[in-house]
Amino acid sequence: MTTLTPILTKNWDRADSFTRAGYERDGGYEALRAAFRMEPDEIVQAVKDSGLRGRGGAGFPTGMKWGFLPPTSPNPRYLVVNADESEPGTCKDIPLMMANPHVLVEGVIISSYAIKSNLAFIYVRGEVLHVIRRLHQAVAEAYEAGYLGKDILGSGYDLDVVVHSGAGAYICGEETALLDSLEGFRGQPRLKPPFPAVAGLYGGPTVINNVESISSVPSIIANGPEWFASMGTEKSQGFGIFSLSGHVTRPGQYEAPLGITLRELLDMAGGVREGHRLKFWTPGGSSTPIFTDEHLDVPLDFESVGAAGSMLGTRALQIFDETTCVVRAVLRWSEFYAHESCGKCTPCREGTYWYKQMLKRLEAGQGSEEDLETLLDLSDNILGRSFCALGDGATSPVVSSIKLFRDEYLRHFELGACPFDPAKSTLWG
Ligand code: NAD
Ligand code: SF4
Repeated sequence: MTTLTPILTKNWDRADSFTRAGYERDGGYEALRAAFRMEPDEIVQAVKDSGLRGRGGAGFPTGMKWGFLPPTSPNPRYLVVNADESEPGTCKDIPLMMANPHVLVEGVIISSYAIKSNLAFIYVRGEVLHVIRRLHQAVAEAYEAGYLGKDILGSGYDLDVVVHSGAGAYICGEETALLDSLEGFRGQPRLKPPFPAVAGLYGGPTVINNVESISSVPSIIANGPEWFASMGTEKSQGFGIFSLSGHVTRPGQYEAPLGITLRELLDMAGGVREGHRLKFWTPGGSSTPIFTDEHLDVPLDFESVGAAGSMLGTRALQIFDETTCVVRAVLRWSEFYAHESCGKCTPCREGTYWYKQMLKRLEAGQGSEEDLETLLDLSDNILGRSFCALGDGATSPVVSSIKLFRDEYLRHFELGACPFDPAKSTLWG
């Protein structure tokens, strides 16, 4: 039986967890002192040895990404924290920054020192004003204590941190769109390569990492890479925050080793709400193919979820019970993608619009099985042909729901209505 590993979430229930004093009382900023006793390259090696993989969804090895920075460059190096958490169902970075902003600030300082950068940015989703205020406060406290600014703790190392607010576009969580937005342009993805590690912010070598990835660095430095690597699975090491939402008794953030299963997490969360049963769920937000109760025992690590036909993504476990219409859920997600598509490339811009139009009709029971083939054909023309991951992600709920719930789509056509609408449905007696 896997147990929880509260590390980043340890003090969330303490009234002063977000203050510098509260963080320091529990050993906060000790890892920074330890980091300054190391050479920057030793820290990069420690992060590589820990096996930490990007917690923003893609799971790219963090230390390897840092290692891609060119040894010399005419431009300065930057660290950018991607705090634009917006994936539907994803709700781990925002509570982390609210409850424990100093672990992120400490992680930013250690990581910037490791990659030899003197300027870091935290790019925060624009809608979360309370988080932006809290980060401003934490950064100000860190300056007051001499953790930021010139000659930090007498180390000779200088670092400034800028908290920057986005303007409410999901696409600005895509790392190169984020860079465009930070530079003051309309946020749209850039062609890769070059990857940001080579040519990123203002053309300088730039490391972009997710909030949770950077927040994991202090504990790796404090406890050693072996400690981190001893948790999780062989290829998905360490712990992560799993966010349970929807039809679950105790929704919330559950920090656990990668490889835990939904069955185990549901046991801890009191199960699916009383009197109901699991129908479908997302392993990592709406951009990952949905799962059903057949997948309750799939270890939630990058490899196992991939082998079972989905992606671990952001570990946003949205739980839906048997009262949910899968077609309606997919329509809602498709409306989101159509709204958030940046419009740069045709497959995504046009495809997500057509998804929305078609699913609206299908959900209302106006359609035929042939329409499902058209939806799948449309998906083939989006997947792998879009400029960035948004287009590909939009296909996941559509394709997986047709594969797993074709009968439910057909039932809509038979009834000429949504079977889950109590006013029209015969299923409700
Ligand atoms: P990606 O696999 O293209 O890249 C992942 C990271 O690795 C990037 O930082 C990229 O620069 C780096 N990288 C990859 N190959 C590289 C190379 N050869 N050299 C240097 N760097 C390299 O994935 P992506 O498009 O950045 O992200 C997709 C993921 O984002 C999805 O899996 C999804 O789960 C996640 N996502 C998260 C949110 C959220 O709110 N957190 C929202 C939408 C999507
Ligand atoms: Fe923009 Fe969508 Fe194309 Fe990405 S896939 S560049 S979001 S239109």
